[in-house]
Parts: sequence; structure tokens; C-alpha cells
Amino acid sequence: MKLIASLRRTAKSLRLRQHYFLLLTLLVMATCIIIGGVKQQPLQAQTVPAATRNNPWQYASFPVENFQAYTSPFGYRTSPVDGTTQFHYGLDMAAPLGSYVRNWWGGKVVELSDDTGCGTRIAIQSGQWKHIYCHLMGHVEETPQGRYLIDREGGVILGQGQNVPASARIARVGMTGRTTGPHLHWELKYADKYIDPALVLQKMYSRHSTSRS
Ligand SMILES: [Zn+2]
Repeated sequence: MKLIASLRRTAKSLRLRQHYFLLLTLLVMATCIIIGGVKQQPLQAQTVPAATRNNPWQYASFPVENFQAYTSPFGYRTSPVDGTTQFHYGLDMAAPLGSYVRNWWGGKVVELSDDTGCGTRIAIQSGQWKHIYCHLMGHVEETPQGRYLIDREGGVILGQGQNVPASARIARVGMTGRTTGPHLHWELKYADKYIDPALVLQKMYSRHSTSRS
């Protein structure tokens, strides 16, 4: 009898241990999922959507003339203006003041503005993609014929709703909005999600080099 009782006790404690083990495993899994989920968010924003792998990147254009350097990447950074940590949704491309900005991909001008930190800003829609250009020269004017970005010195008159082909000169690099030097701040969105423009440029040029060889 004593033996059976002790066996029962062992079995009971074993079952308890199993429960503890199960609970611990669940806790670890839950923690991993929570941490993984939090870490995943900025990563998701940086992945070029799989659905766009077959896009004809060869028709896309590098967005600025006289390009000098990438001065600030997409992602978290210390703001050059006020020193706080913020997410930088674009890629900064330095070029001399007045260099022409070229339309990345054929599309329609959907937004023109000049009243935010982005300065004089153009947004162009190409299917699911939206490409945004900031700190441009010129200003936006509301006319009876519609809304226009006007940079007379640069010979630029761009209308909202206008269709623009890839590589067309759409504006010039300026210093409008919150900026410390002349550069193009370039943003890309796919299905309303921000994409790292550097990844798209990499794809464009890897396609270029393979199609040439
Ligand atoms: Zn920027």
C-alpha cells in the first residue's frame, strides 16, 4: 500500500511538472510572438512586395539628375533639424540646387502642396505605387483651370491630374520646407504602405545589369 501511495504521489508530481512545463512553453512562445510582432513592423515596411517582382523596372527612371550622394536612408534616425528620434519615411538624395527631378514611373499627378515640412511636394500615382517628391523649387497655385506647381525659372508647370511619362522632368531640387541642404526627399508607397526606396533602386539596377548582359 505504501508503495502504491508513493507511486501515486510521484505520478501526481510528474503530472504537475508536465503542467508547469507546458505553461512555461506557452509563456516563452507568447513572449516570442509579442517581441517578434513588435520587431516585425518596421521590417514589413522595408520589404518590396512579392506581388511586384515581375514589374518592368527597366521603364523606371532614377529620380534626380546630377545625383551626388544618399545623405539619409529610410528608417529611424536622429532628426537633422531638431535632434529628436523619428522614422524617416524617404530616402534623401543630395544634388546641386536646381538639378532636375525626373518622374520615376509613368503615372498621374494626384497631389500638389507647399504648406508642410516637405516643402513644395508632388505625389504621383502609378497603379498601386505612389511616389512622392519633397523640398522642390517653385510653389503651388490654385487657378480657375486647376491646381498647378509653378517653377517659371525652371520651365516647370505641372498640373494636378496630369499624366506624366517615366523620366519626364517634373521639378527641380530646392530648399523648401524643413531641410538643411539641397536634396530630393523621395518616398515610395505600395498599396498605401511605405517601402524603402533604396530596395526599389537596387531591384531596378539589378534588373538593368542582367538585361544588358
Ligand atoms: Zn528626407
